[in-house]
Amino acid sequence: MQLDHIALQGFRNIGAASLDLSPKTVALVGKNAQGKTNLVEAVYLLACLKSFRNRHWRDLVKHGEKQAVISAQISGDSLPFTLKLVLDVKEGKSIYKNGVKITRLSDFLGLFRVVLFCPEHLSLIKEGPAKRRSFLDSAICQLRPYYASLLNECVKIEAQRAALLKLSRGKRTDPALFSVWDDRLAGVSVKIASIRADYVRRLQEAAPAHFSRISDGKESLSLSFISDVYREGAGEEEMKAAYLGLLSENLEGDIKYGFTGKGIHRDDLEVKIDSFSARGFASQGQQRSAVLALKLAEGEISRDMTGRPPVYLLDDVLSELDEGRRSYILSGLAGKQVILTGTDKDQLDTAHQLYFVEGGCFSS
Ligand code: ATP
Ligand code: MG
Repeated sequence: MQLDHIALQGFRNIGAASLDLSPKTVALVGKNAQGKTNLVEAVYLLACLKSFRNRHWRDLVKHGEKQAVISAQISGDSLPFTLKLVLDVKEGKSIYKNGVKITRLSDFLGLFRVVLFCPEHLSLIKEGPAKRRSFLDSAICQLRPYYASLLNECVKIEAQRAALLKLSRGKRTDPALFSVWDDRLAGVSVKIASIRADYVRRLQEAAPAHFSRISDGKESLSLSFISDVYREGAGEEEMKAAYLGLLSENLEGDIKYGFTGKGIHRDDLEVKIDSFSARGFASQGQQRSAVLALKLAEGEISRDMTGRPPVYLLDDVLSELDEGRRSYILSGLAGKQVILTGTDKDQLDTAHQLYFVEGGCFSS
């Protein structure tokens, strides 16, 4: 899969830009605050429909403009196609494939796939579980388009259950009141946890080999999925029944605190190096190696599940890595389309195509 062309209008600090992109390595070079990450963010939006930096999509529209437009030509899968994303301050977001409006998120996700490496990811291991869940979720959403709607449904049910929990505070509560919500919550939670567990299994197959190569075979990486809901070897009904039991056991506490204590919102990807928790014990360098291994594995899983490699986005990461890790990652991505950014041209001069970025303008 490759991005052949991208055009931007009114996106962040980019007034108008139109770039043909090499199917190999494209480097965006420029001083700080010129628009390099902005372009990477626009490409990421074409895959995920949300930014990796801001919660509010309105921030993406250039100050003073009414809308931002990202247009792209994509090839590599069956037929080349175009994608257009319009972010309108008043009208909201709209997406078009080959000029036809797409109304369902599940029809959009997966059309274009990326794997992003950015400096924030380098702290993925030592941060709390939310960052690792979001890593899993972003990767899975591109591969299983309906997964995003499961997540949305779960958030809605949890909010409704939380409202009911708060209403029940200080009153004698009939647990049957919760049975409808709990049943729906358990159904969707089991589906989400099972999909996450399956993804972690795939990561566990792909990531350790990269890690041991990056660390010269001296250390080993292992991954496991930690969940209140998922149970290894159990069927869906069994997991659902067990989680329903957990919900009813915790009902009193849930009422006291006004939210559901146990659930998929606590899932975590546990990373161990030589059987010790990487979060507690790994050095900075080991953590970086683990993240690179996870990200390379993410790309391989994306290729294996779809038959085509994704587009790799490396925003500002090469400068953060030592020579060994840098060359490992670049040789691992040889032959794939990689869009990378940096401030130092010398670090990026092996790229097949170079764009200089200044004040939101791109020149070759
Ligand atoms: P660095 O090397 O520091 O990472 P960069 O080239 O990646 O820099 P970007 O993050 O792409 O820089 O940001 C470039 C500029 O875009 C920043 O100066 C920022 O203030 C500006 N910017 C961000 N959002 C908007 C917006 N909505 N409208 C106008 N300008 C914006
Ligand atoms: Mg940047």
